[in-house]
Amino acid sequence: MRSSMIRGPWLSWFISVLLGFGVIWLASYWVGVFTLQELRETTRERLSLYHGTVIGALDKYRYLPFVLSRDEDIRQLLSASQGNQELVSAINISLDATNLKAESDVVYVMDRFGTTLASSNWKESVSFVGHNYAFRPYFKDAMAGKEGRFFALGTVSGIPGFYMSHPVREKSGIIGVVVIKVNLEFLQQQWREGGETVFITDKNSVIFLSSKAEWLYKSLQPISQESMTQIRSVRQYGQAKLGQLKTREHSIAGSSVTEIDKRDFLVSTLDIGFPAWALHYLYPVALVRERQQTTFVIGLVLMTSFLVGALFLRERRLKIISSRRALEAEKIKEINIQLEQEITERRRSEQQLRAAQDGLVQAGKLAALGQMSAAIAHEINQPIAAIRTFVASANLLLKRGKTQELDNSLQQITFLTERMGAITGQLKTFARKAPTKLAPVEVHYVLSRAIGLMQPLFSREQVRIKTHLPSEKIYITGDEIRLEQVFVNLFRNATDAMSGKDQKEISVYLDLNQETVVIRVRDNGTGMNPEIIEQLYDPFFTTKTNGDGIGLGLSISYGIVTDLGGEILARNHPSGGAEFTLSFPLCDAPSNGHQSNEKQRN
Ligand code: ADP
Repeated sequence: MRSSMIRGPWLSWFISVLLGFGVIWLASYWVGVFTLQELRETTRERLSLYHGTVIGALDKYRYLPFVLSRDEDIRQLLSASQGNQELVSAINISLDATNLKAESDVVYVMDRFGTTLASSNWKESVSFVGHNYAFRPYFKDAMAGKEGRFFALGTVSGIPGFYMSHPVREKSGIIGVVVIKVNLEFLQQQWREGGETVFITDKNSVIFLSSKAEWLYKSLQPISQESMTQIRSVRQYGQAKLGQLKTREHSIAGSSVTEIDKRDFLVSTLDIGFPAWALHYLYPVALVRERQQTTFVIGLVLMTSFLVGALFLRERRLKIISSRRALEAEKIKEINIQLEQEITERRRSEQQLRAAQDGLVQAGKLAALGQMSAAIAHEINQPIAAIRTFVASANLLLKRGKTQELDNSLQQITFLTERMGAITGQLKTFARKAPTKLAPVEVHYVLSRAIGLMQPLFSREQVRIKTHLPSEKIYITGDEIRLEQVFVNLFRNATDAMSGKDQKEISVYLDLNQETVVIRVRDNGTGMNPEIIEQLYDPFFTTKTNGDGIGLGLSISYGIVTDLGGEILARNHPSGGAEFTLSFPLCDAPSNGHQSNEKQRN
């Protein structure tokens, strides 16, 4: 995984470099193709220009042999059976003048045997007069009645020249030949001065006019033995050594080029016509290579700059990413520190809160204890004070001997001690734990016990209690004492809520559903503030002031009811007052349940 991650970027770099080289190669290839196209065009243009010059140079002298062949003096000289020195001298002078005017090399007249009778160079050391050129093709062609054209090195002068001949006709036939030799040196000179590579080849592909001196008299193809004999026989190239020019064809940018002397040329050739010559123009293709190399170098520089740029950008990006990550890590670190601080802070405040809560609970408990003590003291103190008064009055009656009146005081004392007993009894039931064993309990019996316990309070507060109970006995699983405690609490609270009322009434309803018994205890008191209904069952929640309540009654009752699998619900009745609804699951009657209740009642 890691190695592939490392290999990935380097592989793409490698591929990019390869692609780069490919593009550069293609670019230089196409540069080569276009440059070659351009060069070929130039070559063609230059070739046709040179062609025009050559044709022009040859055409300039074309008619001169013909004109001279019609000269009367020349005809006379050639038809005379014997030599006429006077006529020869006159013709020599005339030919010299013509040659001078025509700017040709030599103009001369040959008899029908090939011997020069008169020549423009008659007075020069290289004079043709008296020489026989019957072996030259131009003589033979003229004697055959044709115009002669021939290029050769002068046998006497050694000067390269172009020979044009024309027959001199009489009625009897051809009596001689007029020849004009033109020096084509000037063409070579022009080419060399132009610094270009031009040459002309003859029918054997031998270069006889060339801008490059070293290529002269070399052939482009191997010369056959037959052709070589023929060349030698007409002494076309004198003693010049005929060799072969080493050429090699190969291809550059899809085009064929010719390599000569380790240099590549684009070769363009054009036939001159008569004589069977070919003009060759060679353009060096070094320019192609130069341009290709320049393209390659530019491409390489561009690619290197691109790669360096890309590497630089990559480095920069990596740097930015790493510094951003470092910044993020720093931020995360800071946030972590802040979080840790906050957690410590929260823990501390939680501890403080818990301590405060513990303190509050403690304080609440103490307050509850205080309230409870006040309530107990209040409940107990009144009967004690009353007993004390009755005892004092009993003592007084005893001292006075009014024993028959003692009965009333003793009855009052008995009543008061009973009341105190009832109070402590109730307190005891609050303190009692749930019994370990539950048994079926008869609801009527529990309700009547609770009403009985509350009877003194009901009488004192003038509370009327109305029960609406079905006739049959109903049993629920539970514990009589603790169920009594629940109803006593409900009756006590109802009595408290009705304290300011003229008519005080508590109604108890008992309804049966399929599997439950529903007991409703309703009063016509003040009802409850809807906002506190949720808090009724919280321990120590009370709205009673002056130590009248300790807020444990409903809390304990709720615990008992839910312990027995029942439910308790408080609401304000629509017609006023509060209503507490208790529901318990029904259970079957015990086999001895009736007897035990009866026993307790007795
Ligand atoms: P205490 O009677 O000591 O206040 P309880 O837990 O028995 O404690 O009752 C809690 C509170 O519920 C009472 O202070 C009272 O405000 C409200 N309460 C209970 N029963 C009734 C009722 N029948 N009518 C109106 N308010 C009631």
